[in-house]
Amino acid sequence: MTIHVVGGGVAGLAGALALARAGRAVVLHEASPGAGGRARALADGTDNGTHALVGANTAALAFLRAVGARDGWVEPEPDGLPVLDCADGAARRISLSPFGWVSAGHRPPGLSLAALGALARMALPGRDVPVAQAMAAYPVFQRGFVDPLVVATLNTPSAEASSARLAQVLRRLGGPGATRLYVAERGLGPDMVDPALAAIRAAGGEIRFNSRIRSLTAQGDGWLLDGAPAAQILLATPPWESARLLPGLAVPQAHAPIVNLHFARSQPGPVRFVGFVGALCQWVLVRPSGVSVTISAGDAEAGEDAATLAPRAWGEILRAAAAFGIPGEWPIRAPECRLVKERRATPRHTPGPPLAPPRRPAPGLALAGDWTWPHLPATIDAAVRSGEAAARALL
Ligand SMILES: Cc1cc2nc3c(=O)[nH]c(=O)nc-3n(C[C@H](O)[C@H](O)[C@H](O)COP(=O)(O)OP(=O)(O)OC[C@H]3O[C@@H](n4cnc5c(N)ncnc54)[C@H](O)[C@@H]3O)c2cc1C
Repeated sequence: MTIHVVGGGVAGLAGALALARAGRAVVLHEASPGAGGRARALADGTDNGTHALVGANTAALAFLRAVGARDGWVEPEPDGLPVLDCADGAARRISLSPFGWVSAGHRPPGLSLAALGALARMALPGRDVPVAQAMAAYPVFQRGFVDPLVVATLNTPSAEASSARLAQVLRRLGGPGATRLYVAERGLGPDMVDPALAAIRAAGGEIRFNSRIRSLTAQGDGWLLDGAPAAQILLATPPWESARLLPGLAVPQAHAPIVNLHFARSQPGPVRFVGFVGALCQWVLVRPSGVSVTISAGDAEAGEDAATLAPRAWGEILRAAAAFGIPGEWPIRAPECRLVKERRATPRHTPGPPLAPPRRPAPGLALAGDWTWPHLPATIDAAVRSGEAAARALL
């Protein structure tokens, strides 16, 4: 009996792989010409946006290992994250792990026992307020450490981000190696999506691109998928599409954009990753294939174009390259730049209990997708966990 997986993002890929490796006949339907969804390579091979993982993302890293792609994810900054404060020019190396803060040279600005206490209080049950409110008494620590962490992990500005959701993240960052940062050395295509597709095919799964499912209709004990009988379905579409296919399903309504700039600067050299404070850029990834800027929770920037964003971003990148001695040629004029706006990159993680849709809302149907995993913010890790949980529910 064939299981139809709808959606070839990370959740669908993880679900399809689990089903195929369990010996089930699997057909994966992906609406677009390529897989990966919100974590994909564009037609020219550029990633839609920089994706970083940390050691705490154990399901994502295990998935990469399972498809033979783990070695493609490298640790660009093992000695602490370089962070440039564009307001005062301070160039620091900040440890993401509290254990690293024993060394004065790796501490975030404004760190104090009281500020740490405020961070720890977020983890107390029953308290869910905007992060900026919880950290208001510690503005230096908030600006230099908490705010960048919040937009990076929740893709929501601190003024509206849920302290309880941040606490979910913080609780996971305490283990050994949990804060080690990884990025795809070549890109999401060769280092995640292509190996995942190959692994599904090797396990006997079939993949259909340009296969947009238009309707799901319950029929007896099974379903009609675009009118054709389908006994079992793993639905791994984004929230708005899941709600269209299953009217009445409660899904997140508010989303936050991520704006990405990709500069055509191809040069051999090490992979580097730099954080910014007081700047347009939040993160910059330097790879031999190009230089990519991430602007998470970029509500304002989503309304701008490359003509205004690229020169500002490139100016900040030049300052960071000088401050941290990033090798290679750094032309004064911004190289050609590609702008990618992901307007619905993730749900907004605001205070209030996260949605927890049923994994199996009806016989023969299981739900997956980053938004269906209430224990984590919407990330690759949540997507993998949800896909594998949906596969288990069908098995
Ligand atoms: C720019 C950007 C940067 C990010 N950075 C990070 C990061 O650093 N770390 C991290 O962990 N996460 C990051 N994320 C979040 C991460 O990409 C997502 O959480 C994850 O990819 C979601 O996967 P998914 O499978 O749940 O959903 P999606 O990726 O949305 O996949 C759903 C798939 O379903 C397909 N589909 C839709 N409708 C249909 C239909 N009717 N029929 C068939 N197919 C359909 C879509 O084309 C898509 O391929 C980032 C996201 C963006 C956009």
